Amino acid sequence: MSFSLAIVGRPNVGKSTLFNRLVGRRLALVDDQPGVTRDLREGEARLGDLRFTVVDTAGLENETDESLPARMRRLTERAVDEADICLFMIDARAGILPDDRVFAEILRKRAGHVILAANKAEGSAADAGVYEAYELGLGEPLRLSAEHGEGLNELYSALLPLS
Ligand code: GDP
Ligand code: MG
Repeated sequence: MSFSLAIVGRPNVGKSTLFNRLVGRRLALVDDQPGVTRDLREGEARLGDLRFTVVDTAGLENETDESLPARMRRLTERAVDEADICLFMIDARAGILPDDRVFAEILRKRAGHVILAANKAEGSAADAGVYEAYELGLGEPLRLSAEHGEGLNELYSALLPLS
């Protein structure tokens, strides 16, 4: 059986980098609900022998305001409600920021299966951030480097029992 995975988290943590790595060129067309088409990207992912639908959340990525834009929050809630599994991504180099806690709260309230992923985890500069991620109360963080393709075996192992 196939499943859908939503990649959520605050801007700049590496969601689209992981999406692109999982999807490659197999970008699917998204439904054209006005206003959101460009903010939820859906693709056909491959990871080992797993085939699934992956959804990338974006929206106001360049917003400089301190607080999480309401649109980003609404978009995330929609993605979370529609997905079977959520991959909640944090930036291990930046550590846990207030906006990460906002996302963690959304996920605790709404999501079924959550995989917590500490991205940008290549090298020891990420160790403190990975450790901090335990504070979010969403289980053990999976060390990931979307850019360097590290941690994908572990992601596979996390997804396999849920597939
Ligand atoms: P998004 O806003 O969450 O979709 O983040 P992006 O995928 O656009 O990535 C934001 C920035 O982080 C880009 O400059 C990426 O190259 C960088 N990035 C993504 N993944 C990694 C990673 O694993 N390690 C490092 N060091 N940088 C990364
Ligand atoms: Mg993005």
